[in-house]
Amino acid sequence: MLEARNLVSMYGKAQALWDVSLTIDEAEIVALIGSNGAGKTTLLNTISGLHHPASGTVEYLGQGIESLDPYVIVEAGISHVPEGGRVFPDMSVRENLEMGAYPKRAWKAREQTLQQVYGIFPRLKEREKQLARTLSGGERQMLAMGRGLMSRPRLCLLDEPSYGLAPIMVTEIFRIIERLRTQEITVLLIEQNVRHTLEIADRVYVMENGRICMEGECDELLQSDFVRQAYLGL
Ligand code: ATP
Repeated sequence: MLEARNLVSMYGKAQALWDVSLTIDEAEIVALIGSNGAGKTTLLNTISGLHHPASGTVEYLGQGIESLDPYVIVEAGISHVPEGGRVFPDMSVRENLEMGAYPKRAWKAREQTLQQVYGIFPRLKEREKQLARTLSGGERQMLAMGRGLMSRPRLCLLDEPSYGLAPIMVTEIFRIIERLRTQEITVLLIEQNVRHTLEIADRVYVMENGRICMEGECDELLQSDFVRQAYLGL
């Protein structure tokens, strides 16, 4: 579904990605783990068009997208849910969700999609008229994910969806990510919560210092001393 090849990303003279390649197959949950500043968010931003690579390519369903604008990439079916549950604070829950449906094909189906999103996140339905800035951190995260789903994506990029959430909410968010697969949504997930991630992901890429240093199926990574020590504290 998606193939990133030899990506190099720069912030001015500082290099953030060094020759990064990654593939995602349809209906997979692929996770990206790594220490702070490893380049995970930069990689997601490079896929969603928020940051254009200095070199390298990103192919999505056979089409090169590395130089397209973010809104065109959303239209093509890739949705990016950024870190920290960023939503429009002075808009209601419903208005925030409707904002996510701006691609033409999604706008037509927005009522139907809204009901699907409310089915996944009943709490958002209960708070439909509430202003987003009054939501709890977990609810804001749900709203950010819900808004991402409103564009009817085929591929969803999730940047640390469980960050800062209470343990019960973390379990809930992971359950929801797993459910996306049943709705034919492919997921690329950045996560610090490695234990939970290895339970739901199909494959994992490990990034260090702007490079992919390891990749494999979860079972393989669980056998790795490096992953066990650095990420699971075993
Ligand atoms: P974290 O887990 O801490 O969120 P990350 O793996 O997502 O980290 P990035 O946010 O992609 O890492 O950052 C990779 C590197 O690029 C870091 O050294 C960071 O300081 C740098 N960087 C990120 N954004 C910018 C920017 N807008 N301008 C300059 N440097 C940046």
